[in-house]
Amino acid sequence: MSVRRVAILGSTGSIGVNTLDVIRAHPDRFKVVALTAAKQVDVLADQCAEFHPAIAVVADAAGAARLTKLLLDRKINTEVLYGPQALVSAVTQSDCDTVMAAIVGAAGLVPALAAAKAGKRVLLANKEALVMSGDLFMQAMKVGGGELLPIDSEHNAIFQCLPSRFSKDLNPSLGVEELWLTASGGPFRNTPLEQLASITPEQACAHPNWVMGRKISVDSATMMNKGLEVIEAFWLFGLPLEKIKVLIHPQSLVHSMVRYRDGSVLAQLGQPDMRTPIAYGLAWPERIDAGVAPLSLTQLASLSFAEPELERFPCLSLAFAAAYAGGTAPTVLNAANEIAVAAFLEEGLPYLQIPVVVEKVLNSIASVNAKSLEIILDVDARARQSAQEVVRDALCKH
Ligand code: NAD
Ligand code: MG
Repeated sequence: MSVRRVAILGSTGSIGVNTLDVIRAHPDRFKVVALTAAKQVDVLADQCAEFHPAIAVVADAAGAARLTKLLLDRKINTEVLYGPQALVSAVTQSDCDTVMAAIVGAAGLVPALAAAKAGKRVLLANKEALVMSGDLFMQAMKVGGGELLPIDSEHNAIFQCLPSRFSKDLNPSLGVEELWLTASGGPFRNTPLEQLASITPEQACAHPNWVMGRKISVDSATMMNKGLEVIEAFWLFGLPLEKIKVLIHPQSLVHSMVRYRDGSVLAQLGQPDMRTPIAYGLAWPERIDAGVAPLSLTQLASLSFAEPELERFPCLSLAFAAAYAGGTAPTVLNAANEIAVAAFLEEGLPYLQIPVVVEKVLNSIASVNAKSLEIILDVDARARQSAQEVVRDALCKH
């Protein structure tokens, strides 16, 4: 068995820490060669002390100076780099064969694309990267010749429920009729609509089933997360949008399903624990112990499914609209959402203003063909600026 050499983009986040947890249990299979974080220098220093990567990356020079000192004090021989370009170096210069793309948001796009182009096995958690650049990213994977394994639990489930020879070109003969993405409905699935106006960041981040980073937790509450996942599924599996459905499933045990022409529906079940899809991606096509408790079906009260209420989750409708519009509309959707969620978390933007900001920005920037990274990054920057202005207006009125 050859040892996989792993770079983790975003190693201090929720996915990053879970990835290291799986790797820790399999020192014979995995070697960590690069770790990156934005600001959590102390956590990164501890990770370097334990896993001895060749390269560690932080966001800025001050962080790099602090990390260098912490590593020197502990006699750890890891090269410290900083800044966005260093994230690309972590992928291209670390001698890795596997990249966990687990930076949150658009910041993860460029290094994830670099991993795709370089032919790495890409474990994709950073859905925003694919939402922004779907066509470009899938082409980069093809040209690079590496393997793309979805880590998002729904897409990982669908990947597991598809035939191993699945490819976009074979779609018709494989008889895949629909993909059913499940969604818990988040913490406000049953909250009276009139109470949504006063939701706080703490309430929004208290997900009933999953422990995740703050941004994706808010996205789960608004169901923008599921909207981003519909776009993610569209690019990963190449089915028309009409065939991608969303089902509310509050127990979060069925992670998604594939409905076939012959009447079969295949589902993947498991605990709501990201170490399962992470272990699957790391060891594919083998399976390894993920440290996850076994699922007991006899201890479950029930599994239930329902249609999402669109009135409660306007972000889901906005994401479908952007998906159907195509081109750079998903990039605009994602950028506006990132700004609105950050303003909700840090500046007191009311919860119900998140979809309002996203809709205004979507309506103000025309979609163009997303054919190059330059175009995508330019649209992303313009959408962010526009969203900042809309947020400022909303905060003034509030
Ligand atoms: P998180 O906020 O916990 O961690 C994010 C990581 O990215 C951290 O290591 C942080 O230092 C780094 N980072 C943030 N901004 C950065 C920047 N500008 N430059 C460089 N690094 C930066 O997020 P998370 O919950 O681990 O999610 C990571 C990604 O995985 C997201 O795209 C999310 O949608 C996706 N995902 C997460 C889960 C989950 O259970 N947490 C499930 C499915 C998909
Ligand atoms: Mg998911």
